[in-house]
Amino acid sequence: MTRPTQAIIDLQALRYNYALARQRHGGRALAVLKANAYGHGATQCARALSGLADGFAVAFVEEAVSLRKAGIGAPILLLEGAFGADDLDLAHANGLWVVVHQESQLRMIEAARHLRDLNVWLKVNSGMGRAGFAPGDIAAAYARLKANGRVSELTLMTHFARADEPDSDATAQQTRVFDAATAGLPGDRSLCNSAGLLQWECARRDWGRPGILLYGADPMPKGDSGLKPVMTLCSEIFAVRELRPGDVLGYGGTFIAKQPTRVGIVAIGYADGYPRTAPTGTPVRVDGQPACTVGRVSMDMLTVDITHLPTAGIGSAVELWGNQVDVNVVARAAGTIPYELLCNVKRVRFSYVDRENASPGYPAPASQQAPDLVR
Ligand SMILES: *Cc1c(COP(=O)(O)O)cnc(C)c1O
Repeated sequence: MTRPTQAIIDLQALRYNYALARQRHGGRALAVLKANAYGHGATQCARALSGLADGFAVAFVEEAVSLRKAGIGAPILLLEGAFGADDLDLAHANGLWVVVHQESQLRMIEAARHLRDLNVWLKVNSGMGRAGFAPGDIAAAYARLKANGRVSELTLMTHFARADEPDSDATAQQTRVFDAATAGLPGDRSLCNSAGLLQWECARRDWGRPGILLYGADPMPKGDSGLKPVMTLCSEIFAVRELRPGDVLGYGGTFIAKQPTRVGIVAIGYADGYPRTAPTGTPVRVDGQPACTVGRVSMDMLTVDITHLPTAGIGSAVELWGNQVDVNVVARAAGTIPYELLCNVKRVRFSYVDRENASPGYPAPASQQAPDLVR
């Protein structure tokens, strides 16, 4: 028997969430697959969405090329664009779409005399204050891209800083800044990330760019969008300890039993991506029953209190997050966001389940194919 620790990826839930996003937003939607599809396996997710998604988006060119090598032919947008002329060539050779967010990228395109038919997404800094042209510089950048003869398709985009805050005016304000900066310029528009397309009707345009919602983690505080969790991170109890009052548990001795306590030791730790910052009391499920962690999370294992579950023991199933434990709740307890938790999952076995097509057993994502993990 091997270590019973896995991330089970529900590809039908992924498709469900994509369809929900596209329907909510209207128009078309790029499924954002950067960071190995937020830790879910970019190739498997792209394949599962093939024929359904209008296209994909990743952060940089290597992420896109590995999708092309896996046979993904759909449009792929590079959200950070080209880092250098070689990147731009690689993007062009692979038929990738590129964001242009700063002057140096504009010059790169102007200097690349051999390139034709580029699909460029021109990015406005409408208030994020990070990448993007200042609103007052957009018309000039647009004109230069049109004039150089290398760009056949030009889309206008921006990115929201606070779309997950329903009580903030920032997103409506960014939308107004974007609309004013791009007024009269022909071309499609793309504004919404997940939170934008769920919450801000005023910002829906031609293309949505849903990321986190595809994976079933609701970015809004209410969390009532009807998304389905895609990843279930689970393991098993492999040992049980009976603590007497006064017994100390784990690194730092942070937990001291006040009463007789049954503790299950679970085969997952922070080296697998479970957050070390999750404190005593972070929820888990043991054999489907509510329970919680106790003591510090270690590298390869963590401990859960099963005093109230007399039938639980060695071999009991433990869900760390997924269908029963909301990854948002774990993230909040650990002082982070679901994005980071999901991206961090590693070293565990990945199982792909596709109930509709009933075909589990896609190969593991590339990042999991370390020699010691190939079985
Ligand atoms: C990551 C990213 C997205 C997706 O954001 P979510 O919050 O995960 O939906 C959309 N647009 C850009 C530019 C991004 O970098």
